[in-house]
Amino acid sequence: MALLSVVLPSYNEEQNIANTAHVLAELLESHGIDYELVFISDGSGDHTFQEIQKAAADNPRIKGAEFSRNFGKEAGIFAGLELAEGDAVVVMDCDLQHPPETIPEMWRLWQEGAEVVEGIKKSRGRESLFHRFSAGIFYRVMSRLIRMDMNSTSDFKLLDRRVVKVLLELPERNTFFRALTFWAGFRTERVEYEVRERQYGESKWSFFSLMRYAVTNATSFSTLPLQLVTVMGMISLIFSAILAVQTLVRYVTAVEGFTTVILLILLVGGFLMVSLGIIGHYIARIYEEVKGRPKYIISRITDNVPETARGIWSRQRRQGGWI
Ligand code: UDP
Ligand code: MG
Repeated sequence: MALLSVVLPSYNEEQNIANTAHVLAELLESHGIDYELVFISDGSGDHTFQEIQKAAADNPRIKGAEFSRNFGKEAGIFAGLELAEGDAVVVMDCDLQHPPETIPEMWRLWQEGAEVVEGIKKSRGRESLFHRFSAGIFYRVMSRLIRMDMNSTSDFKLLDRRVVKVLLELPERNTFFRALTFWAGFRTERVEYEVRERQYGESKWSFFSLMRYAVTNATSFSTLPLQLVTVMGMISLIFSAILAVQTLVRYVTAVEGFTTVILLILLVGGFLMVSLGIIGHYIARIYEEVKGRPKYIISRITDNVPETARGIWSRQRRQGGWI
């Protein structure tokens, strides 16, 4: 019988674990789906991992791991994919904002041959105007940059084992899960869902963390900002050509062009700094990739997870060798 893994990245979610585990177990059992739940505690400062251990002790189909510190949701997702053994893997938030009832539908589509089932947000649920606004900008900019329609996509997806294998094979450290499944291709189906309200705890995203997320993902998935530097150079060239003509005219008519000088210096200075900033972001990405540090470090695991999972992420180790 085919096995379904549900990967749940969790950061400071002690209030959610028991409830989520219970709701998912009940739902999947009632649909007769053979399942396992993989909770990844992302270096939580509360009792999230203890809750996971408790849940695992109650239900052998639940397993989990804890990171040595907060590595971010992306790392959590990838650690979950690594630990998951299912023929199909669903990734979802552990705050139940992604409605669990969608999973059986995804599962059905998978059985009918879909290799990726994208969860598409029908509405964004109730959230603050500010959050809606920043998320709106984020998706608009991201869609432009990576030339894929990112609007209303989410991290709520089902992936076939083949797709999971491809994603785990990627050598890069800075991943953007949501876009990578588009990038990977495969036979894709979509299901719509309504975002639920969070029952316990609060959202982990602030405006700044969202912006940082946007910049990291933009630079890890697109080189368009780099080309922007060329565009800015062109604009500044055209501008200076116009000013050159004007200055020459003024020279002939003998009027001082001090304002023009200040303007030019400001403009060119501004462009240079923005360009350096953009290039800097890419150098930072290259630097991080070249260092080759692991995506995450697993410090603790539940009893039913093989001991080899502990430590650092490494492709070689997964392939059976040593680091
Ligand atoms: N999360 C995580 N690591 C982080 C931040 C968040 O694993 O550094 C998890 C979190 O526990 C939740 C999911 O990512 O399961 C989505 O986070 P959240 O609900 O805070 O985001 P929102 O739903 O508000 O977009
Ligand atoms: Mg949430």
